[in-house]
Amino acid sequence: MSPWPTGSPTGPDPKTPSGRYRPTGTRRSNAGLLLGHLHRYGPRSRTDLVAETGLSKASVTSLVGDLVARDLLVECDVTHTGHSGRPSRPVDISGRWVEGIGIEITERTATGFAINLSGDLVAERSAPFAPAEGEDIDRAPGDVAQAIARVASDLLDAALDRGHVVAGLCLAVPAHLCRRAQPIRSPGWGPEVMAVLEQLTTTRCGPGVDVRADRSADLAAVAERRLGPQGEAATLVTIDGGAAVGGGVVLDGGAARGATGLVADVGHLVVAADGERCWCGGRGCWETVVGVEAIVRQCCPDLAGNPLTLRSPAVIAEVARRARIGDAFALEGLERVGRWVGIGLASIVATLNPHAVVLDGSFRLLGPWLLDHAMAAFAAHAGGPALDDCIVTTSSLDGTAPRRGAAMRAVAHVVDDPESILEAASSVCNGRAAGSSQR
Ligand SMILES: [Zn+2]
Repeated sequence: MSPWPTGSPTGPDPKTPSGRYRPTGTRRSNAGLLLGHLHRYGPRSRTDLVAETGLSKASVTSLVGDLVARDLLVECDVTHTGHSGRPSRPVDISGRWVEGIGIEITERTATGFAINLSGDLVAERSAPFAPAEGEDIDRAPGDVAQAIARVASDLLDAALDRGHVVAGLCLAVPAHLCRRAQPIRSPGWGPEVMAVLEQLTTTRCGPGVDVRADRSADLAAVAERRLGPQGEAATLVTIDGGAAVGGGVVLDGGAARGATGLVADVGHLVVAADGERCWCGGRGCWETVVGVEAIVRQCCPDLAGNPLTLRSPAVIAEVARRARIGDAFALEGLERVGRWVGIGLASIVATLNPHAVVLDGSFRLLGPWLLDHAMAAFAAHAGGPALDDCIVTTSSLDGTAPRRGAAMRAVAHVVDDPESILEAASSVCNGRAAGSSQR
């Protein structure tokens, strides 16, 4: 994302903070204002920053100088000319020495990404776990916790080996494990997993590493907004097709959560008043006509009777295979499912007025055969002006949006308060000492 300057590949040595950059109070918050502005709008010249943030020229010059010295900002190549005709050199977020770790729990694997402050992917690890076939992961707490811990340990050690500072670790948790404001509801394993992660980060990195869990769908929306092809759409909805259908919302530039943290639980949007009973207790929920079970029933009825098959990711691959070879039953089924997808989208778009809707999961994998039918139904059922300018697209992040978003969330506090990472950089030395004595 940022054009890197030549020089040290890893930035300043965090073991030896210069002590030059120690802002407090207003200066500290202004540093966060500058980084936040660059994070949101991309590279800017000092002149632009003065005009757009309201900070004085002297403040911008001084703060940018300090942040460049700490390798939290970087001078870019000259790309345009200022009003005076003199070259204007933009600055952008740097921070290759700052890493955030995001770990996503999926059906059978814990997969982690480490990114730096610029958003570049620097490492990836995964560890499988194996609950009994078809068994829900909240009934296999020990295996899941071990896999998460293994991924976290590997990524933490790799970051320290690079001489980098870990700012935070965020776990992306499936929606069915979340309830109300609590990120993980299952008493059997949620608190235990978080305690293990706290201990791992403290042992390796010292205190001060931000450890949290959040709903996968919310984190996917964060990643799509930042990295998706629709650009920095201020209001964006992501919808993840699967056995459960869920969504995330970025509203006016910030992740929306809802009253109890379950915003955009769109699988239970009622689309058919006389429809089927849903497992949630409702009737005619969107999930009953576009969830994996409905897709398999419509496209591959020979596979639909086995609940274990329906939980396997391979079943959507099989639907796609049949569609690809022109299986008429599969194609007709996908046309029917696509129509239901479009009908649900019409209500979602009319409610939230998003700039873009990004489809992921089974909707992305089956997009070549679903999307045209979905858009036809969307156009036929949608009437309001909010619908005209909305982009509907499939995710380009290859199924990685939740863990990418988790890693972004893990470093977000550094953008808000760059001073916090310098405090962590000081404690990482202590953490290393503690870790080496305990390992
Ligand atoms: Zn329901």
